[in-house]
Amino acid sequence: MSQKMKQRSYEVVVVGGGAAGISAAISAAKNGANTLLIEAGPMIGGELISGLPVDGAVNARGEWVVGGVLKEILEELKRLGGYIGPVKDWRLIWKVCVDPEIMKIAIYNIARKHGVHLLMYSMVDKVITENNRVTGVLVINKGSHTIVSAKVIIDCSGDGDVASLAGAETMKSNDAGEYQPVSIVFRLMGVDTQKLLQFCVDEPENLAVGESEWMGAELTALECAKKLQEQGQPTAFLRGNGPLIQKGIDDGEMYKTALIGFIPISTDRKEVAVNTTRIANIDATDREALSGAMHELMDQTWTCVEFIKKRIPGFENAYFSGLAHRIGIRETCRIVGDYVLSREDVYKGRKLKDGIGKGCHHIDIHQDGIKQVRIPVENGGSYDMPYSMLLVKGLDNVYIAGRCMSADREAHGSARVMGPCMAQGEAAGLGAAISLELNSPGEIRGIPIDRLREGLLSQGAILDGTH
Ligand SMILES: Cc1cc2nc3c(=O)[nH]c(=O)nc-3n(C[C@H](O)[C@H](O)[C@H](O)COP(=O)(O)OP(=O)(O)OC[C@H]3O[C@@H](n4cnc5c(N)ncnc54)[C@H](O)[C@@H]3O)c2cc1C
Repeated sequence: MSQKMKQRSYEVVVVGGGAAGISAAISAAKNGANTLLIEAGPMIGGELISGLPVDGAVNARGEWVVGGVLKEILEELKRLGGYIGPVKDWRLIWKVCVDPEIMKIAIYNIARKHGVHLLMYSMVDKVITENNRVTGVLVINKGSHTIVSAKVIIDCSGDGDVASLAGAETMKSNDAGEYQPVSIVFRLMGVDTQKLLQFCVDEPENLAVGESEWMGAELTALECAKKLQEQGQPTAFLRGNGPLIQKGIDDGEMYKTALIGFIPISTDRKEVAVNTTRIANIDATDREALSGAMHELMDQTWTCVEFIKKRIPGFENAYFSGLAHRIGIRETCRIVGDYVLSREDVYKGRKLKDGIGKGCHHIDIHQDGIKQVRIPVENGGSYDMPYSMLLVKGLDNVYIAGRCMSADREAHGSARVMGPCMAQGEAAGLGAAISLELNSPGEIRGIPIDRLREGLLSQGAILDGTH
């Protein structure tokens, strides 16, 4: 093995190339840090390239609350013709809709523009520690291992691999051992948008709508359906306990699900992504369990494709056009940081002088079958995320950002969506770059928060001035 052991050195290493990781790596690199992004899979972008919209970036009132790297990527996407933009679901949220195929290219373009080094197909398996610092990670590549040393490590692995390997305290699941479901997103092309929206107007009792005072709570389901029709985008969330899906379940045509959600992804291709499949209570860090889930997710996908084509107007001539590149994971392990974002922080929309980013998505905890917890942020507003939630308790030079964030389970249910994950990543990336200039480079607790906030604002992040 020693013959095949390589050594590399960077100032900043980001582990995990999902939404949080790409934002962290771009932010560190654009601020001058020699940055490596390590990703276990064959693609970077995570759920940004699966067909899902970016949630938590625009609050229920319609104010943007996340900018910065997200906006930079969206500008590139727009230039390439893959941007649909904010679409109101008339339930709780504005979804920023994107073409996942063009998004793959937009992300690479921006990462390359800022000089992010990439190491893909590579899994971080061990960490090298010295006192309270992680001085490097051991990466398994095909036929070789690489030791990558770094001044600062940003753990965006979703599962908190770096932090937990370094001995950080972790939080998993809830007292009942539940996990939010894993799901696979699929796509349908050739959708007749007008027919779908007319169906919403004809049978509004199937729609999940009007759950926020800022989004139709005063309207009837029919009035919300008419708003969807006026908007003209092929978007609708059909309730798992609405008559159509319930009958499908009773007749054996559908599996139990909280929703069938249609998300516009390409006007040219008349294509939507579909968010519906689910298997709850799997520990997705157990790779045998995760691999085993694939059979059922494939079966659910095909069952749902047939159900949609048979039962939902507008899909009669639609055809299956693709499956996400991986099983989507909502929840595994959370790392305990200096601060643990709380449920109250989120739903009360708390503001902080030292906030480094915002979230606005409702507390959104999918459960088994048709169950789902949805608690909106008060006043249709947003909450601030503090710098201290990025710092891993007990470690001096490791940030956590994204799905493995320091948050209680309810707060995680909100901040796990891509807008706030990207805001966290961006702040960690810039924080890492700033820390390189300290007397003890990489001591991330020592950076001046004012400087971090100024830097974030100057790269377009949104920190103040929203509800
Ligand atoms: C079905 C589903 C629907 C959702 N709907 C929405 C939605 O509509 N809008 C929204 O904004 N959000 C949605 N979310 C939530 C959101 O997509 C995710 O929480 C978010 O993308 C998490 O990003 P992340 O970068 O933290 O983690 P991930 O996307 O999980 O990225 C982590 C990356 O790290 C890599 N990795 C892991 N371990 C290692 C290791 N040891 N070494 C190297 N690499 C490693 C993984 O391969 C992965 O690419 C949904 C999630 C799911 C699953």
